[in-house]
Amino acid sequence: MSTGLTLVATPIGNLGDLSPRALATLQSAAVVLCEDTRVTGAMLARHGVSVTMIPLHEHNEDDQTPRILDRLRAGDRIALVSDAGTPLVSDPGYRLVRAAIAAGLPVGAIPGPNAAVMALTLSGLPPHPFLFLGFLPVKAGARTAEIARLRAVERAGLAASMIFYEAPHRLAETLAALAEGFGAARPAAVARELTKRFEEVRRATLGELAGHYAAEQARGEIAIVIGPAPEEAAGEIELDQALRDALAAGLSVRDAAAAVAAATGLPRKQVYRAALAMGGGHGGEG
Ligand code: SAM
Repeated sequence: MSTGLTLVATPIGNLGDLSPRALATLQSAAVVLCEDTRVTGAMLARHGVSVTMIPLHEHNEDDQTPRILDRLRAGDRIALVSDAGTPLVSDPGYRLVRAAIAAGLPVGAIPGPNAAVMALTLSGLPPHPFLFLGFLPVKAGARTAEIARLRAVERAGLAASMIFYEAPHRLAETLAALAEGFGAARPAAVARELTKRFEEVRRATLGELAGHYAAEQARGEIAIVIGPAPEEAAGEIELDQALRDALAAGLSVRDAAAAVAAATGLPRKQVYRAALAMGGGHGGEG
């Protein structure tokens, strides 16, 4: 193991996925920082590794960081793992890594399992560009607002597959909220229990997936992938841009809608509604 801080990816369910380099790094570390010493202790014990562990989690990361930096300066080899998968990805460690980099201390990584990337590659949806969003807010209002924000980003031109993590007891309501925000016809996939005995990838539309999991409570660990905004969205983007240009040129909402409808061949009512939705004005169409 090289000196400094090393981020070590660990299995997301299948112990066989701990790489030889990850194992060697953990064996030679002076200390292993981990979220939960019971979880990491069990994983290490199954690989015959005995090493000092120090908990590092959301609540003590800021307190622990100066002490860890001192040990790194003194030449200790320190490994960071999370309960499962790649550290920092919806897991602790970012603040420590940032501080170590700022202090000029060496930071390295042993790459390995990550549920988001595995779900993406098995989803059958375009692998790039992709946007990893982790967990959506738990509260319905905040979740709806976040989905609306993402939809607005799509309207502004983003066409990327999106990856979310979700707890099984919230899956049905989250899929329903995603179907509401992105449209029930949007292709998606639910990847469950990856690398484990009951691994399953269900590929369908958001509407179908929401219906399925409303009827059948999901179990286990879950990642959701949704496909990029469809072509119509690109049409909406062009429509928005044409309207913005027409309004910026000083046309009234009504005249802008008429001009853009004529130029694009889209129904005048649809264009007029789009102009109003852009905040271009008020009032009914004559
Ligand atoms: N750092 C981890 C990684 O690299 O994937 C993710 C940690 S995050 C706290 C845990 C969440 O990741 C789970 O709640 C689940 O949404 C997802 N996840 C982890 N393992 C999974 C698996 N085997 N199958 C599907 N999703 C998984």
